Amino acid sequence: MKKEMTIVYKVHNNLYVNLTNRCSCACTFCLRQTRDHMEDSNSLWLSHEPSFEEVKEAFEAFDVASYNEIVFCGFGEPTERFDLILEVSKYVKETYHKPIRINTNGQGDLINNRSIAPEMQRLIDTVSISLNTPDAGKYHELVRSEFGEKAFDAMLAFAKEAKKYVPNVVLTTVATTLTPQEEAACQKICDDLGVTYRIRPWED
Ligand code: SF4
Repeated sequence: MKKEMTIVYKVHNNLYVNLTNRCSCACTFCLRQTRDHMEDSNSLWLSHEPSFEEVKEAFEAFDVASYNEIVFCGFGEPTERFDLILEVSKYVKETYHKPIRINTNGQGDLINNRSIAPEMQRLIDTVSISLNTPDAGKYHELVRSEFGEKAFDAMLAFAKEAKKYVPNVVLTTVATTLTPQEEAACQKICDDLGVTYRIRPWED
C-alpha cells in the first residue's frame, strides 16, 4: 500500500480534506479495501496524521476561492480527529469563507466520548451521515463498528443533536443497495429526526 501525504484533494469542484486513516468501523463495502485513491487524488493512505500546520500548507497549494465547498472526508473517519476539524474549520471560515461539510459514520460522540454536535455551531454547514440501512441489526453486520450494537442508536442520536447546531443534516444510503420498502423506512427515520434523507451514488 503506497503512503503519501495527500491531505487536501479535489473531488468535482470541492476540496476534500483527509486527516486520518483511523475509523471506528470496518464496513464490508469500504472503498479502502479495493483502492488507494479517488478519481483526482494520489494515494489517500497517509504516512502520518497531519498537523494543523501541514493542513494549512496543503490548502495554500490550491486556489481555494475557486472551489464550492470544503469537505472533511478522506480515507478514514474524520471525527477521529474532531479537535483538528474544529481548528481547520476556524481557519477555513476566517481565511476562505467557504461552506464546510463533514462526511461521517455518525459515531463521533462514541469516538470522542462526549457530545460533539454543539462544538460544530457556526463552523460546520452540513453534516452528511451514512445511515446505510434502516435496520439496526443489518447496520451492525455491515459496518462492524468497534462500538458494537450501540453504534446504530448513537448515530441516530448524533443526527438529532446535530440538527440543533448545524443548518443541513443529511442521512444517506447508497442507490440500488436497498429495496423501495427499506428506502421508505429510511425516509421515515429522517422525517422523525427532522433531517434530510438522500439516496446517493456509490462514490460520493
Ligand atoms: S465508515 Fe467509511 S472509512 Fe470507515 S470503514 Fe466504513 S466506509 Fe470505510
